[in-house]
Parts: sequence; C-alpha cells; structure tokens
Amino acid sequence: MTTAALIVAAGNGVRAGGTVAKQFAQLCGKPMLSHSFSALSSHPAVTEITLVIGEGQQDQAREKLGDSVNFVNLVTGGAERRDSVRAGLEALEGKGVTRVLIHDAARPFVPAAVIDALLEALDQAPGAIPALPVADTLAKGTEFLGDNVARANLNRIQTPQAFHFDAILAAHRAWPADEEATDDAQMLRRMGQDVLLVPGDPMLEKITHPQDFAAAEARHAATLISRSATGFDVHRFETGQELWLGGIRIPHDKGLSGHSDADVALHAITDALLGTIGAGDIGMHFPPSDPKWRGAASAQFLEHAAKLVREQGGIIDFIDLTLICEAPKIGPHREAIRASIAALLSLPLSGVSLKATTTERLGFTGRGEGMAAQAIATVRLPE
Ligand code: MG
Repeated sequence: MTTAALIVAAGNGVRAGGTVAKQFAQLCGKPMLSHSFSALSSHPAVTEITLVIGEGQQDQAREKLGDSVNFVNLVTGGAERRDSVRAGLEALEGKGVTRVLIHDAARPFVPAAVIDALLEALDQAPGAIPALPVADTLAKGTEFLGDNVARANLNRIQTPQAFHFDAILAAHRAWPADEEATDDAQMLRRMGQDVLLVPGDPMLEKITHPQDFAAAEARHAATLISRSATGFDVHRFETGQELWLGGIRIPHDKGLSGHSDADVALHAITDALLGTIGAGDIGMHFPPSDPKWRGAASAQFLEHAAKLVREQGGIIDFIDLTLICEAPKIGPHREAIRASIAALLSLPLSGVSLKATTTERLGFTGRGEGMAAQAIATVRLPE
C-alpha cells in the first residue's frame, strides 16, 4: 500500500507584524510548515509528500525548507483551499498511491498516534478524520444570548484527514464548480461514502490568529524533555594576543592563542550545546585544519550550535559557565560577559550564570600558562 501525504500550505495570510506567509513564519525555531512536514515524512507508513503552495511561493518554499525540499513534490495551488487540494490530488494520480493524508500546514504538530489511528480506520471505511468532543457550552446569539445548542454529538474536526485515494479524487472531481466547498470529508460523504471518526489531539490545534503562535509554542514546550550537557576547553596564554571571553575583548597583558579568536568561554558553551543534541564537538563543525576559521570570531560557533538546537525544536533554558584562571580578575567583567552571552543566545540575562575560580596556583592555570572554561547547558528538546 502506498500512502502519500498532501500538505496544503498555499495561504497568503501573514503573521502580525511579519511579511512572510504564515506557513513560512518561524515557530519553535523553524518555519511552521517544517513541523508537519517532519512529522508526516518521518512516519513509517508515509512514502511520499506533496506540498501545495501558493502562486509565486516556490522560491520561499525552497529557501525555508532547505534540503528537505528535495523530498517533496511541489505543486502550485489555486484560489480556494478546494482548488489547492484538487491540484495536489491530480498531481498524485497515476503514481500508484492508494491512501492519502490531506493536512493543513496551519496545524503544525501532528502526533504519530493520530496518523496510526487514521490509517487503521481506512481498513474499515474509505475516509477517516480526527475529531475532538466539544467541551464548552454552545449557544446561539449575537448581542443577547439565545438558546443553547445541544453539544452531545458535536465534534471539532481536525486534519490530517485520511482517504482511499481513488475515492477522494473522484469526490473532488464530482463536486459542482458553482457550489461552495466544504472540507474533504464532507465531499466524500456527498458521494454516499462513510467517514470514520478517530480521536483527535489538542496538539493539532490550528494556528489562525497571530496570538495562536504563542499558544502553539507553549503547547509544544509542554511536550519537551529537559537535557543537560557539559563542555570544557583550554587555551594557552601568549603575549601579544588579544583576550576574548564570552564574545567581548578583555584588557589584559596576555591573550589566549588558538586557531580562532580562542574565546575559551564560548568554546566551552558551544560544546555544551552541541552535547545536548549529541551533535559531536566544536572541532567537528569547525575543524582547526580549515584555514577559513583562522582568527574567526567564536560568536559564530556559538550561534551555529544554538541554531542546531532550535532546528530540532529545542529551547535553550540555561547556561552555567565557570572560568578557571589566576588572572585577569573576572569580577569586573562578569556582567558584561553574561550580557554578551545572553545576547548571542537570545536569552534573558537570568539565563546565563558566570562563575570564576582559581586553582590555588596549582597546575597550568595556577602558573598562568593558560585558561580553562567549563560550561553546562540545559535545554528542552522533543522526546
Ligand atoms: Mg577551544
């Protein structure tokens, strides 16, 4: 059985204050569309993804989806949602697709369990959709309250909606052009076919209004698990070098030497962040053997690590850094270093802690030959 996912992302509505269409706006560290794309493409039953975008959105889709755009069929949609779905279905015809999941990109978080339930239901009916019971009291009225509406058998309908491919394509083709479209499941019912209800999920809530972005971020955050990882780094003091710590230059009679700007603090934090996602160490991402990193500002290493964490849906919660040296004195620079690190990571100042210690004149740091830094990063990540 071949199961295709068809993601409808053809809207032109923009997030408040933004210029990008909603489906391409940033949500939890990546474009909104990327979330449902990842969820659907990583489901073992889904063999191909068709993405329906708006006229003129090709470049944007390519830019926002990056390499993953190579794994989708990009189709240009139409004026109405129905036209867009139809275009996607027509593009899938003749490809041997037997089942299709039709999904709106405005519902970014798609639990695998919902996909499982939908596909299982397709063994019993040509259509299946996720539905949630209505919890609130429903009533008529505009200015004054009217009668209550019985909610016993009422449902809130979500997507993805799952169908036998031939059945839903036929339903779309049969729908009268002059009649206002309803959703895909109702089109199938019009053909006299059954559509099963499976339990929906609050994670599937739709993003309609600008304020829904914050609510979606909060829903997503509640599903994350906390993870911490450490980083450690050492650089040698040399006269004639600048001393960079935490992204700012510290006046001192010696500086740290290394291939980059040798910012021992940022290197330790970068390794800690990479550790939280098991992404190796700083040397793997920025090899010292590569001349392009000679004298490089380490801020870009840190920002790269933070981007990798956020691309995985991660939230950086806290950095704790310890600098180990006899000199310079860190105290006078503490707040400036904290503020710099917080700014580089887009964290509040309270998200960065900085401590300093000596080693009682023992060892290489005690003799003033070099400086060490250790960091721990705490992040929240999808399970
Ligand atoms: Mg280093």
